[in-house]
Amino acid sequence: MARTLKILVVGAHPDDADFQFGGSAALYRRQGHQVRFLSVTNGSTGHFCMGGVELARRRAEEARRSGEVLGLEYLVLDIQSGELEPSLPYRKMLIQHIREYRPDLIATHRPCDYHPDHRYTSQLVQDAAYSVTVPGVCPLTPHLSETPVIVYLHDSFRVPSPFRADVVLDIDEVVEKKMDMLHCHTSQMYEWMPYNGGYLAEVPDGPDARREWLGHRYRARDQQVAEEFRSVLLRLYGEARGTRVRQAEAFEVCEYGAPLTADQLPILFPFF
Ligand SMILES: [Zn+2]
Repeated sequence: MARTLKILVVGAHPDDADFQFGGSAALYRRQGHQVRFLSVTNGSTGHFCMGGVELARRRAEEARRSGEVLGLEYLVLDIQSGELEPSLPYRKMLIQHIREYRPDLIATHRPCDYHPDHRYTSQLVQDAAYSVTVPGVCPLTPHLSETPVIVYLHDSFRVPSPFRADVVLDIDEVVEKKMDMLHCHTSQMYEWMPYNGGYLAEVPDGPDARREWLGHRYRARDQQVAEEFRSVLLRLYGEARGTRVRQAEAFEVCEYGAPLTADQLPILFPFF
């Protein structure tokens, strides 16, 4: 292995990184690279009958256990969910976080998204992108010589611009690890999201039945990604493997980070 990469996935809530980067994180971890999931909010509004201290602590523990599945660091910042703003203090906090971790690659939401926490998380990463290299901003935290490559996590929003898949990763061999991570987020997978989506009655009882149900439900999403971006899989993996891929995760390069050059691609995504 050439060198150990550091990957930073900045999600708004404790489960966003798992959904859009869980399989990719498993691929990196399998090669010994470092992956850090950072949830910018504590997720304390993500439930129908629980909140505050109890839910924030429960979700932090769920995130910790999810991180344990892959042996990655899962950090949850103590900012109330639903109340994140793209403010100067939060921007500085993120600049310092990025400078201290010194990631090779950052992944985050796109700025067009239904959820204000997702939008503002993206905005904060974008606002930090240039400033991480400016010595006069947060001068006591050593600045970076260049902005890392930044990619956006996949979503299905169409306006103002649909997601463009620049990198698509085959996660077939690790997809069950991703499902195991999602399974750790009990409050979300089996309570809040089914309640909010109107399918709470479908959720089975017992951990084994739930894990199986979850796998069916969420592998299907990753299968849609593979189908939608098949042409990119064929280009990156070649005809034989590109055709075979069943589950995938996709990323769009953010133009405010360093460019993802043809030389950089196999270094930052050493899977092709
Ligand atoms: Zn979220």
